[in-house]
Amino acid sequence: MSKEYSIETKCIQSGWKPKNGEARVLPIYQSTTFKYETSDEMGKLFDLEKDGYFYTRLQNPTNDMVAQKICELEGGVAAMLTSSGQAANYYAVFNICEAGDHVIMSSTVYGGTFNLLTVTMKKMGIACTIVDPDADEETLHKAFLENTKCVVAESIANPALVVLDIEKFAKVAHAHGVPLIVDNTFATPINCRPFEFGADIVTHSTSKYMDGHAMSLGGAIVDSGNFDWNQYGDKFHGLTAPDESYHGVTYTEKFGKKAYITKATVQLMRDLGSTQSPMNAFLLNVGLETLHLRMPRHCENALKVASWLERNDKVAWVNYPGLASSKYYHLAQKYMPNGTCGVISFGLKGGRDVSVSFMDHLKLAAIVTHVADARTCVLHPASHTHRQMNDEQLKEAGVQPDLIRFSVGIENADDIIADIEQALANI
Ligand SMILES: *Cc1c(COP(=O)(O)O)cnc(C)c1O
Repeated sequence: MSKEYSIETKCIQSGWKPKNGEARVLPIYQSTTFKYETSDEMGKLFDLEKDGYFYTRLQNPTNDMVAQKICELEGGVAAMLTSSGQAANYYAVFNICEAGDHVIMSSTVYGGTFNLLTVTMKKMGIACTIVDPDADEETLHKAFLENTKCVVAESIANPALVVLDIEKFAKVAHAHGVPLIVDNTFATPINCRPFEFGADIVTHSTSKYMDGHAMSLGGAIVDSGNFDWNQYGDKFHGLTAPDESYHGVTYTEKFGKKAYITKATVQLMRDLGSTQSPMNAFLLNVGLETLHLRMPRHCENALKVASWLERNDKVAWVNYPGLASSKYYHLAQKYMPNGTCGVISFGLKGGRDVSVSFMDHLKLAAIVTHVADARTCVLHPASHTHRQMNDEQLKEAGVQPDLIRFSVGIENADDIIADIEQALANI
């Protein structure tokens, strides 16, 4: 039904649909467990013979209602929440990979995702090849191996702000019979819906714009339902061959288009347990109700701030895909014509020390290890998230030593600009 509504209406109405006499607002099922009248009834749930709740590590009604809303916002067929964005990306990949497999990843992904795939999952026997998101198709094709199982990239990279050519990546991935997984955290489904351009799986750190208020950590995975796992024989055997831990259930046979999310829920959540707390899911849902109002304001403010910075002679460079001067402006116009995100990066003349001094003089914009929420905040990757690297290593990682990551909030843009102006004057 709600598929017919516009995205603004879905932000408010999707998910929880109270029946006669039920709570109008999504209830918080703050309960680890669920009660049954007979032992047999609960047994059927354990066999996946019946749909229902028995233990919150696997599924919880509050979480499911919020996942359903995110699913509809992205235009997918099934979705699940996770305890963090890290868990979402981990599960999204690990759901279709095992020791001996190989993954292709864009070089500009979030540092946490970079470490996850190149360090931690490598220890699990899953190899990773890093590709330049701007590489041409021919170069991308060369990265694929016999055992490649998926391609991972971000619609807007954090913090490099590279806009992904989603169609190019989807085309190349599909030519090799593997799905494209797109982390859509920065753009959100309000500005970009990767499934419309061929992505197969979408992930989110809901800790950012979706929650929107820096209150609750969380993640989400959404399946488009478009990737045909059965078409590639034994390649995705975790989905297409019997799961012995469920008496031989074959996910694609039993769950059809919901196979991928069902497997991630009943197998990965069961065994690894990165469940979002129902309380956090409730807060996330409150955030989602205003996502369609906040995103345009973030973008409008960010464009004003970026344009002002571009005109200031103390500023060495500005990177914002909403600026006509950006290398990614045309891709942004294609994939996110209504706006990109509220995050800007820029550098000041005089380099690293000047950037640090500037940040210390900000009054409204707070120095925090967060990004993409209602309050304007700022971070200096070279001093914080990438602190252990020297200047040489920073350049290799695509993080210039003077790079300031500035996350424009939804305050009045003139107040944000005035704060920047006074900090620049006081360096
Ligand atoms: C923050 C972030 C993550 C990690 O999410 P957490 O909720 O912090 O675990 C993953 N991807 C992107 C693009 C992010 O910005």
